[in-house]
Amino acid sequence: MLELHGTSRIHYCMSCKTLYPVEKIKNERVPKCDKCGDVTRPKVTLYEEALDEVTVDTAIDHIYASDLLIIGGTSLAVYPAAV
Ligand SMILES: [Zn+2]
Repeated sequence: MLELHGTSRIHYCMSCKTLYPVEKIKNERVPKCDKCGDVTRPKVTLYEEALDEVTVDTAIDHIYASDLLIIGGTSLAVYPAAV
């Protein structure tokens, strides 16, 4: 399964890019990185942000190689997932 818009189950540091499973995020107003102290955020794509290129390229590869495609969570009406 590929999550085109990312996942809230993983957070990452905005400076050093260290990944944290959501279970490791401390209950702080602004979660901070254990390594560098910068802010962490969910690994999701917000409005005006670009989708992760690796995920998009992998999705395209899977689509070309598939015999059956099941897509969930989108109407396929909004770009770039629009057909
Ligand atoms: Zn960091």
